[in-house]
Amino acid sequence: MRTPIIAGNWKLNKTVPEAVELCRQLEALLDGAVDREVVVCPSFTALSAVQALGLVTVKHGAQNMAAYESGAYTGEVSAAMLRDVGCQYVILGHSERRELFGETDEAVNTKARLALRSDIKPIICVGETLEQRRSGETEDVVLGQLTRDFDGIDVEDAARIVVAYEPIWAIGTGETASGEDANTVISAIRRKLAVLYDADTAASIRIQYGGSVKPNNIREFMEYPDIDGALVGGASLRADDFVGIVQCS
Ligand code: PEP
Repeated sequence: MRTPIIAGNWKLNKTVPEAVELCRQLEALLDGAVDREVVVCPSFTALSAVQALGLVTVKHGAQNMAAYESGAYTGEVSAAMLRDVGCQYVILGHSERRELFGETDEAVNTKARLALRSDIKPIICVGETLEQRRSGETEDVVLGQLTRDFDGIDVEDAARIVVAYEPIWAIGTGETASGEDANTVISAIRRKLAVLYDADTAASIRIQYGGSVKPNNIREFMEYPDIDGALVGGASLRADDFVGIVQCS
């Protein structure tokens, strides 16, 4: 039985006081009454303050991490450092990191292994561009990313990973895939995981949809049993919207 997971990617938003205030609001509005896992991913600078709140319902994670354990890597933040500030999750391979910062599947794979070793669950993002969708390459692209990102990760660790299917053309654009289209790709991801691992492992891995999710469209995705929640960008920055997504999911 998979517990759906709704995660908020705050991106480059929220100062420390703003992050603390939003977390307080979320915790109060949700009031423990959720059968979903709820995760927020603030900036690195706010993680320690969020940890200090001692939230019960809302977990926190990071938006990225280093592909190295320690050493001369100026500006990087390691898995152990994230664990230190209470992170239970880390988003890896977000399309913005892939496109703007050149993050490769090889780096995603290395980071995922390091995260798992520090007891942090990776949320691995995969997704196609509009051109790739139009030329019928969606499944090849997404399943290729998935295969490279999970390369060499053993079955116990694989079961702890969350996959986020995020069609790039739907991120921050107000465009969403239809529930049916998202489900088609997500079902293909699950079938591929069964090939890479086994049917039980594939059935245990949570796969989210991401791309312009709002309170008024989350149901369209959650209707499909293979879709286990959402990775939310813009709508995770306001307490009422994010709580609306959790409650409607
Ligand atoms: C995201 O950045 O992961 C995302 C899904 O953003 P948005 O919800 O704003 O489309």
